[in-house]
Amino acid sequence: MSNAPVASNRLTPEQYQQNFADIKPALSHYQAKVEAARCLYCESAPCISACPTEINIPSFISRIATDNIQGAAETILESNILGGSCARVCPTEVLCEQACVRHHSEECKAVAIGSLQRFAIDNSTLHPHPFSREATSGKSVAVVGSGPAGLACAHRLARHGHNVTIIESHSKPGGLNEYGIAAYKLVNDFAQREIDFITEIGGIDWSYETSLGQTVTLDQLRSEFDAVFLGIGLQGHRRLNISGEDSKHIQYAVDEIAHIRQSKQLSELKVGNRIIVIGGGNTAIDIACQMRRLGATDVTIAYRRSTKQMSATPHEQAFARQNGVRILEWSQPVAAEATPEGVCIQFQKTATDEQGGLKATSESFSLKADMVYVAIGQYFLTDCFANSQHPPDTSHGRITVTPDNHTSLPDVWAGGDCVNKGEDLTVHAVQHGKIAAESIHRFLTAPEQNNSQTD
Ligand SMILES: Cc1cc2nc3c(=O)[nH]c(=O)nc-3n(C[C@H](O)[C@H](O)[C@H](O)COP(=O)(O)OP(=O)(O)OC[C@H]3O[C@@H](n4cnc5c(N)ncnc54)[C@H](O)[C@@H]3O)c2cc1C
Ligand code: SF4
Repeated sequence: MSNAPVASNRLTPEQYQQNFADIKPALSHYQAKVEAARCLYCESAPCISACPTEINIPSFISRIATDNIQGAAETILESNILGGSCARVCPTEVLCEQACVRHHSEECKAVAIGSLQRFAIDNSTLHPHPFSREATSGKSVAVVGSGPAGLACAHRLARHGHNVTIIESHSKPGGLNEYGIAAYKLVNDFAQREIDFITEIGGIDWSYETSLGQTVTLDQLRSEFDAVFLGIGLQGHRRLNISGEDSKHIQYAVDEIAHIRQSKQLSELKVGNRIIVIGGGNTAIDIACQMRRLGATDVTIAYRRSTKQMSATPHEQAFARQNGVRILEWSQPVAAEATPEGVCIQFQKTATDEQGGLKATSESFSLKADMVYVAIGQYFLTDCFANSQHPPDTSHGRITVTPDNHTSLPDVWAGGDCVNKGEDLTVHAVQHGKIAAESIHRFLTAPEQNNSQTD
């Protein structure tokens, strides 16, 4: 529950609706045809290698151009079963569209690959399910976590005929697609509709409110299933480590974002007037913009380095500014003090030292806020392995995996945010789940595995 002290019902119902409507309106049939005609069908197609899931982009665009929308959707889904949500949430400006040859032409405008992908998925018939399940293999796999990594892995395994059980600690599936991505990127319950589509392949069972490390141990799963996939994301929140941090007026941004995503009535959410967000990534931008769209009048993001060093892309920073968010750079919080209305944060100005590191300067200032949201990153919590005799290697902070997402344990794979590949987008999680599923499939169908099972 939000502790925000100030008002609810600040905007008219129409304003709430408008502020949380789709930020990227869908292309019409005519617009999609015109945009598809801009593709040069490049032989080397740099857009394909820039897509983490390696979607055959010129192939699906040519199908749109020839009115084969169903074929276009199937081309996308063959590589990325969450192609619908990726079309909506991918930062295409730093992926496929950045690599598009038209991005460097005189037009200076890439083919709108993300919008075309969305057009294809939204305008095709996905029922009955476009892929069929192979004959059942008799093998079973536990997939822990139902975020993009777990869902992609589960679908690919089910397609290969394996029986999958998804183990999820929440009562609702989807991971950050359901609890993290900004509401205006995935409108109309898209995340849940996509999960319905994915599980229509068959062979996927669910175990909700089952938590690895509490309800079930990794050792148990390894003895009950032929293989295990871990797609458990990052559950630890980084703290500021400043005095006064435990104030109820200081909260983690991801918790508030989840609260907004699950809210049935935005007008009933209590929202502060003056908001400070601490951090420089996607999450900082997302909470700041959502606060503005909920009616907060004064929203400031404070970041300890320069905007050039923010992990939020220039595109995202521009989006924040368009939403009326102020970005303060070189500002590091050093203490928090309670005020009658909220909290006052003291900041120290920072600068780069001779070695390129960060140093505090003698300059300081303070800002008052009704609410402060901390968005300085998340980390992997090893608690889920606490009661397992044989946990996978996590010596580098997250689960260590090989290029095919195999952990240090012979029958355990992992993917998505919880692994140490240095990749943190939805589309990366989907690719990890897919790669792991293919590796698990090879493991389950290897002659030695089958011999040992029948012996
Ligand atoms: C606020 C926010 C906004 C973002 N916006 C974007 C964006 O716009 N575009 C983009 O590409 N990426 C975005 N990302 C990143 C993206 O959401 C993640 O990279 C992606 O969701 C990772 O998928 P995952 O499956 O690894 O983990 P998650 O989506 O975190 O899913 C993990 C699942 O595991 C479950 N789980 C955890 N622990 C256990 C346990 N012990 N037992 C059982 N189940 C467990 C969780 O309940 C959850 O369902 C955003 C991230 C955040 C935090
Ligand atoms: S790089 Fe651009 S123009 Fe070339 S195939 Fe990809 S989308 Fe088409």
